[in-house]
Amino acid sequence: MNQIAVLGSTGSIGTSCLDVIGSCRDRMSLAGITAHSRWEMLGRQSETYHPRWAVVSDASLRSTVRREIFSRHTELLFGADSIERVVCEPEIDVVVAGIVGVAGLRGTWAALEAGKRVAIANKETLVLAGPLVMDLAGKTGATLIPVDSEHSAIFQAMLAGRRQDVRRIVLTSSGGPFRGWSAERLNDVTPEMALAHPTWEMGPKITVDSATMMNKALEVIEAKWLFGLQSDQIEVVVHPQSIVHSFVEFVDGSVIAQLSPPDMKLPIQYALTYPERTEGISPRMDWKQAMDLHFEAPDFDAFPALGLGFEVAERGGTSGAVLNAANEAAVDLFLSGKLRFRDIARACRDVLNAHHFAPTPTLDELLQKDRWAREEIQQWKP
Ligand code: NDP
Ligand code: MG
Repeated sequence: MNQIAVLGSTGSIGTSCLDVIGSCRDRMSLAGITAHSRWEMLGRQSETYHPRWAVVSDASLRSTVRREIFSRHTELLFGADSIERVVCEPEIDVVVAGIVGVAGLRGTWAALEAGKRVAIANKETLVLAGPLVMDLAGKTGATLIPVDSEHSAIFQAMLAGRRQDVRRIVLTSSGGPFRGWSAERLNDVTPEMALAHPTWEMGPKITVDSATMMNKALEVIEAKWLFGLQSDQIEVVVHPQSIVHSFVEFVDGSVIAQLSPPDMKLPIQYALTYPERTEGISPRMDWKQAMDLHFEAPDFDAFPALGLGFEVAERGGTSGAVLNAANEAAVDLFLSGKLRFRDIARACRDVLNAHHFAPTPTLDELLQKDRWAREEIQQWKP
């Protein structure tokens, strides 16, 4: 029986993960859940699954949270430190990193230090500190299994051959809600428009990232570190149906892909059951329905964020931390109406250009760059 801690259990990844665990009660059980602000939902999750621990990471909510809505089998904890405590508990086997943004780093880091299996959705941690994260996992014997659908597809397709025989990988992208739009038309994009994704239901930050294609940029960087690739071995193709989740091309020209309807429950389940596969609750392909699978080249001019991803993947060092933090801060400003849609990528470009690059930073240096980039974005002017 696998005991699982889900970090960010109130989010889009977190709730899908609980659905998967609920459907596989004979082989896994939920032992820990964490929320930042949505404590009432956390209470309901505690009542349904009776995990041993529940953490509200925003400690200022301590006097607001009503203990009585939580299961009496659940120990209720507060503060970000408590996330680290829970992931290190000896009875936790698997940690799902489902917190959004750099806030997810600490829990993921602690789980890797403790040598756990980590099902990683939180790509920002890999963008910020990919080499350090991979090194740490290597040292402690922790296993990192990707949850991001493209990376799960690559992980699965890679099993078809030897690592040294991989020629390149191709990440698919839905193209987001503004596929085919000109740069000028994108001037008038509002938060409401950016939050309506055509194929995926996700939290607000990654939904905006998908609209700017910064999400794909972050995924290029994520793939580089996760799979130990050179940046010129990574390509992106737009595939609006989101059925082919990515593919690997081997040196002989064979291309191996993973296909399924767009639903995060499948990559989540695979990360939890790997190397086994089990019947699940994810929807299946219906091959009796006629369908077209369309592929086209991405538009780097209309979506300049994508180019930033390739540039940062090539450069490494402190540039991932700067791009990631600049983007997180810019998306927040966009969602609160203080920055225009196209200025997200422009501001990230300027902050990247302004930063003092270091090729082999420590974690402290990366976190310092993260703070610096967030401040720069606050002062950025179009
Ligand atoms: P959501 O916004 O839906 O959920 C985020 C979760 O993180 C919530 O549980 C939230 O708690 C918690 N959280 C937010 N801020 C903090 C903080 N400062 N400290 C601790 N916890 C915090 O995001 P998603 O589920 O969409 O995305 C989660 C991660 O997974 C992201 O890194 C995203 O890139 C990645 N991902 C998501 C996919 C998806 O389909 N959604 C697909 C692939 C990757 P609360 O709500 O209680 O405040
Ligand atoms: Mg993805």
